Amino acid sequence: MLSYEGTLYRPPSEADSLILQATIGCSYNRCTFCGMYRDKRFRVRPIAELRAEIQWAAQNMVGVRKVFLADGDALVAKAAFLLEVLDELRRTFPDLRRVSAYASPQSLQVRTVDEMRALREAGLSLYYLGIESGHDAVLARLEKGVDAAEMIRVARKAGEADVKLSTMVLLGAGGRALSHEHAVESARVVSAIGPRFVSTLVMTPVADTPLWDEAQRGEVDELTPVELARELRDFVAGLELEGTIFRSNHASNRLTLKGTLPKDKAALLEVLDTVIANPEHAPFVPAWLRGL
Ligand code: SF4
Repeated sequence: MLSYEGTLYRPPSEADSLILQATIGCSYNRCTFCGMYRDKRFRVRPIAELRAEIQWAAQNMVGVRKVFLADGDALVAKAAFLLEVLDELRRTFPDLRRVSAYASPQSLQVRTVDEMRALREAGLSLYYLGIESGHDAVLARLEKGVDAAEMIRVARKAGEADVKLSTMVLLGAGGRALSHEHAVESARVVSAIGPRFVSTLVMTPVADTPLWDEAQRGEVDELTPVELARELRDFVAGLELEGTIFRSNHASNRLTLKGTLPKDKAALLEVLDTVIANPEHAPFVPAWLRGL
């Protein structure tokens, strides 16, 4: 049986993947906006349990081609352990095409480029990294644990190891006062990293987080859909990328956009300019449809 502890989170693009909970929780667990693993104490699961789950999946699931290693930052587990998991996966699923995991900046700090390369050769070829912002003051307020320069440094380690990165930026994280600077600096950092994918989420206070408490005290600006569109425009305008897929398809977004950069940059900006000029006709996703 697959046994999942607590609530399971995965990126939207892993909807059809086998989710294997290699680690429980997040080893960092301090980002002010993140409530995903507050109720879990971080630990690495015993390899014997994972081997049994992989064998169960082989007997009960057909056509496993993608595997996502949960929870919040499985990459922080020792490389030797992850290699054992990857070896078991490869031996068990002949059609396996990719294994992916969330990578916190802290896990990218502890894994060496050589370890990442060895893991990539064993199948772990994609990391999801929450950059959130490229603005130092915003990163500090979110308690991300790294500044922009360190974010670039650790993310580039993945690039050196030839691991693909799917990065996330948190719209609205700078509030109204830092909206423009947050967008410009985030575009600078994403451009410096050059990920394969970049997506946006909208910062949303969730219960039992420091951000929620700030929101209750009236210290968090909730940007209007037009303000978010302006911020997104500033962000997209600043991106200098070569072959990156852009998406704003997470449920928190008010506008659903996608394209490949730089090819579709002008078209994306045109859509955003139209939205900003005529917000009353804009295809904003209503709050009730976002399920938030
Ligand atoms: S590193 Fe990721 S999973 Fe961990 S607290 Fe921060 S946002 Fe949440």
